[in-house]
Amino acid sequence: MKIKFPLIIVGSQWGDEGKGKVVDLLSDRASHVVRYNGGNNAGHSVVLAVEKFKLSLLPSGVLRRKKLFLSHGVVIDPKILLDEIALFEKRKIKVNLMIDPRVNIVMPYHKALDAATEIWKGKKATGSLHLGIGYTYEDKNNRFGVRFEDLIAPNALKERLELIFPLKKLQIEKVYGQKFSSTIKEIYKEYVNYGKKLKKYLGDVSFTLTKAIKKERVLFEGAHGTFLDGIFGTYPYTTAVYTIAGGVFPYVGLPPQKIYSLGVVKAYTTRVGNGPFPTELLDSTGEKIRQVGGEFGTVSKRPRRCGWLDLCLVRTAIRLSGFDYLAITKLDVLSGLDRIKVCIGYKIGKKTIREVPAMMSDFGKCTPIYKEFKGWKEDISKIKKLEKLSLEAKTYLKYIEKQLEVPVKIISVAAERSSNILL
Ligand code: GDP
Ligand code: MG
Repeated sequence: MKIKFPLIIVGSQWGDEGKGKVVDLLSDRASHVVRYNGGNNAGHSVVLAVEKFKLSLLPSGVLRRKKLFLSHGVVIDPKILLDEIALFEKRKIKVNLMIDPRVNIVMPYHKALDAATEIWKGKKATGSLHLGIGYTYEDKNNRFGVRFEDLIAPNALKERLELIFPLKKLQIEKVYGQKFSSTIKEIYKEYVNYGKKLKKYLGDVSFTLTKAIKKERVLFEGAHGTFLDGIFGTYPYTTAVYTIAGGVFPYVGLPPQKIYSLGVVKAYTTRVGNGPFPTELLDSTGEKIRQVGGEFGTVSKRPRRCGWLDLCLVRTAIRLSGFDYLAITKLDVLSGLDRIKVCIGYKIGKKTIREVPAMMSDFGKCTPIYKEFKGWKEDISKIKKLEKLSLEAKTYLKYIEKQLEVPVKIISVAAERSSNILL
């Protein structure tokens, strides 16, 4: 398998494509692994021998003892980060981490506002996990945030809280009519303590990576997926950040340059939360995929909506992020199905289209056009060579690659780290 660096890994669907596993696999070849967007709402799992690690903030490269970076595009819930660091240190895995001072910190009032807004939206709720991520980005963009540099400087933290806290309390209690019992003193005490523990990780990630990218092998781990992109995703059921590859430049602080990109494509489609999903399966096949694929949220445990692979989604993702390579994951989950369908286009009124339309009102009206394939019966989870796959599985893969016009480099056939066909 030949893959070039610097490399960015992006989910090509609605997230949970198995990026964690692909990053772990490729970080073996990297020296630096960077998370540059999203918060701890982007859970990913890496399976190592018998142990399954669920990460939400640390880059997956932690298991390979690489240099790890959290750039300012990430927002940090300090307690969650400290718990994750402790998990690895307990296993004698040293966490070699650098956190940019410009990173924004998730505060208790962000979570309270998140919960309060979801109550207010009622049936139209975004499906947020009340982790406060969206609100942290809102304050970041509105210059009303607490940055990592404030967290580690008690006086600065106090000053920021004195400015911000009273307004947040008023908002939660007087606008949303919800209770918010935390006091400024409690929050200060708790967060100063987090700052003390995290201070040693401070570093200028933008500066360090601008230099490192020229001579080292830098891997960027994208969170979420293309259709959770705050602009190009299925708005408003999205995250607050760019998830497409180009986001990496401002989110790290790098000048535009060639960064290779790899799109992770799950062999079927899943989606968490509300919003249109043309290939959704609401029948027993959907349930089978959910059970076999373990399609329940890494962090939330919520059942994920499941459906057939949608090439319109992936084609759009390729256009937006310019993938040089693809990884197909969870192919094993489709084993045993009699027939497998792939969406190759949408019908909208009398028109046929091949990509996700720009207007979400149109996307809601799209009905999928399917191509059907014969399924395969055998267990493929131990297969390491493409030739060993049955004709049916090969036909399915070949068709996808031909349609998408991007070379497939990795086919993942089980959750375990080494269960891959590398091309
Ligand atoms: P991410 O958010 O894109 O990193 O994906 P998640 O970790 O949320 O979800 C992927 C899940 O699928 C995890 O539980 C992985 O351990 C698992 N997984 C990854 N690749 C494969 C695969 O090829 N086959 C199977 N059966 N499971 C996989
Ligand atoms: Mg996930």
